[in-house]
Amino acid sequence: MATATRRILLVEDEKAIREAVGAYLEREGYWVTPASDGEQAIAEFQRHKFDLVILDLMLPKVSGEAVCRSIRDSSDVPIMMLTAKGETEDRVAGLELGADDYLVKPFSPRELVARARALLRRAHADTEPQRDKLIFGDLEIDTAGHKAFLGGEELDLTASEFKLLVTLARYPGRVYTRMELVEKVLGYDFEGYERTIDSHVKNLRSKMHDDPRDPNYIWTVHGIGYRFEAPKTGEK
Ligand code: CA
Repeated sequence: MATATRRILLVEDEKAIREAVGAYLEREGYWVTPASDGEQAIAEFQRHKFDLVILDLMLPKVSGEAVCRSIRDSSDVPIMMLTAKGETEDRVAGLELGADDYLVKPFSPRELVARARALLRRAHADTEPQRDKLIFGDLEIDTAGHKAFLGGEELDLTASEFKLLVTLARYPGRVYTRMELVEKVLGYDFEGYERTIDSHVKNLRSKMHDDPRDPNYIWTVHGIGYRFEAPKTGEK
């Protein structure tokens, strides 16, 4: 990579995971600063400038949630939460606290690196002006013209479906909770409307011929919401 070395703060109290993940990220060319508890994490964060924070939720001394809140007070650095299986509510809370993504243990180092890379790319893209055209494989979204095309054919989308697609596609890989989508797409925040998002997603998928069991673009994140992914080249 031609870009400057990215600095990652890796907060994890389990030594084996911390060392394995740290070694993997370093092999990928990242500069890794490890921290083994919440207190140390906050101290390191104040001392250096980081491009990404990987943050375990269950930590000694200061919890991952408190660390996340403390970081968000002063910075919009991308934060990836690490959570144990079955902590769905914690995950939602984490995303609502301002984390950008989460990964459920046990995860593969390869997946962690892919997600880290996506977050770093996205953070970098945020500092650039928003593009009018988003292109992912066969899908082309003209955000200024409010049109979307799949394989050159214009999709017949409602205003809400279009907004939903643009919201998801602006940040591939980012997980959106249903509540966030309700707020961004429908503009109100009623819990009862979360199901409305599901039906918009259903209609959008059907118009895009996107099979929910084997999606090209829109992925269900069980118990949480949805995310958009650029289709893998060479597939389908
Ligand atoms: Ca832990």
